Amino acid sequence: MLIKLAGARVIDPAHEVNDVVRDLFVRDGRMVAGPKDGERIDRTWDATGTIAMAGAIDLHTHIGGGKVNIARALLPEFSRRDVLPGTDVCAACAGGPMPSTLAAGYRYTAMGYTACFEPAMLPVNARQAHLEMGDTPIVDKGAYALLGNDDFLLSQLATGADPREIRDYVAWIMHASHAIGIKVVNAGGISAFKFNQRSLDVDEPNAHYRVTPRQIVRELARAVHELGVPHPLHVHSSNLGVPGNVDSTLATIAAAEGLPIHLTHLQFHSYGTEGDRKFSSAAARIAEAVNAAPNVTVDVGQIMFGQTVTASGDSMLQHRNARHGRPGKWVVMDIECDAGCGVVPFRYRDRDFVNALQWAIGLELFLMISDPWRVFLTTDHPNGGPFTSYPHLIKLLMDRSFRNDVLASINPEAAQMSALAALDREYSLYEIAIMTRAAPARVLGLEDHGHLGVGAAANVVIYEPHEDPETMFARPRWVFKDGQLVAERGAIVAVTRGSIHTVKPGFDRGIERKLEPWFARYHTQSMASFRISDEEVCECGQAPRLVVHPCRAR
Ligand SMILES: [Zn+2]
Ligand SMILES: [Zn+2]
Repeated sequence: MLIKLAGARVIDPAHEVNDVVRDLFVRDGRMVAGPKDGERIDRTWDATGTIAMAGAIDLHTHIGGGKVNIARALLPEFSRRDVLPGTDVCAACAGGPMPSTLAAGYRYTAMGYTACFEPAMLPVNARQAHLEMGDTPIVDKGAYALLGNDDFLLSQLATGADPREIRDYVAWIMHASHAIGIKVVNAGGISAFKFNQRSLDVDEPNAHYRVTPRQIVRELARAVHELGVPHPLHVHSSNLGVPGNVDSTLATIAAAEGLPIHLTHLQFHSYGTEGDRKFSSAAARIAEAVNAAPNVTVDVGQIMFGQTVTASGDSMLQHRNARHGRPGKWVVMDIECDAGCGVVPFRYRDRDFVNALQWAIGLELFLMISDPWRVFLTTDHPNGGPFTSYPHLIKLLMDRSFRNDVLASINPEAAQMSALAALDREYSLYEIAIMTRAAPARVLGLEDHGHLGVGAAANVVIYEPHEDPETMFARPRWVFKDGQLVAERGAIVAVTRGSIHTVKPGFDRGIERKLEPWFARYHTQSMASFRISDEEVCECGQAPRLVVHPCRAR
């Protein structure tokens, strides 16, 4: 079956194609150069005057795992609507900041997203995470396994284990949980919380293990790099949300010692202590450091005004946040030997000084970090706001006068303290395509995603140009997933199943001689049942394909 998408203006930054009118061809779910000699075109779609991009990739969105489900259960008023006779089922299930699995898959697809990555999969909970991701239709999925608060790693670091063993353990976890990367959340801090520490600075030792966040970040970044895992260590830095945490963030960059590192939801880690309220933007200092450090990539975690729910592995943070919950209910828990979990609903208000400044800080980061290949578009869904707000966020980046109008309507003291009014940068469509497609594919090691070259997965989004980017990005005319039309002008027209993306670095199985007795002694499940087989992950992930991406040569 050969399909032709005719006459679109193609924007494909991975091949430095910027707004060039050309035909695109798809055979059996893959991009191809064109018909073979004498080959008939089975179907032609007239895309004249439209804009074609590869399917978008969200590299940090909480769509699977225990805390997502807890958030749904805690907040039935947002996630569940009664389906009354005569109501549109999709509209009924799609509301709220924490959509159901089905609604998440449909809404991502309708916006032109074709792959989503869950950033906080606890290895002990990987089965459930894959089950929930598997229940999310159409989009491809992958997950980062959470390490850096697990008792095994901390005990190994505390007793000075050989870096080779750390590497073997990291690789073993990636295999066992079917991860594509490793994330560390508040390195050592979630463990410290269990020993009654209520904060942990980058050079402060965990009370029990006497290991510091700096050590943990450095050793994990090294292990991930030496294993050849394409995605650098994904880091939720220390002291999230705390005024003055700019110092922790800069110390975390330094802790990587030049190794690749990805700093996530950077907005929440870019705060100073200036001004009467002792809360200020440190975006300029952070952006300067990121611009000067080519080993660093970031995603922003932009906050959006309105109701949402925060869900994090960082129980230390969420315990601190609980008193700010709106509505006033919360859950914080420890997760056996792995980490923790906290769910707190939030309502970000534009008239609130802190919230308004957080909003401005996120935009400052987007506009001050110069290289769109190293800064990614996220709201840390649902923590800064639901992913459904992405088209609005794109408009804020592309349209300076719109941005300034919003700036004029927020808390005036916050607006005054922000540098935003002076930033006249406007993102181009080409830069949006980089930060939402080409760059996330590259930083994750997805060689056949995020571009429209020959051999790529035929994930193609056809947009109708519009003076309002929010309108353009909210409802593309057509979304093709693996060559099949799945959405048209905001409506789902076919339901398919996405692949699971993983990386499986080589390692020495000898590490199991240490792990097996550890599991027997401390875990509620044995090492053998902790590990998920390929067949099981495909079955619970409802995935037709488990894609194993190659590691990089060392
Ligand atoms: Zn995080
Ligand atoms: Zn997150």
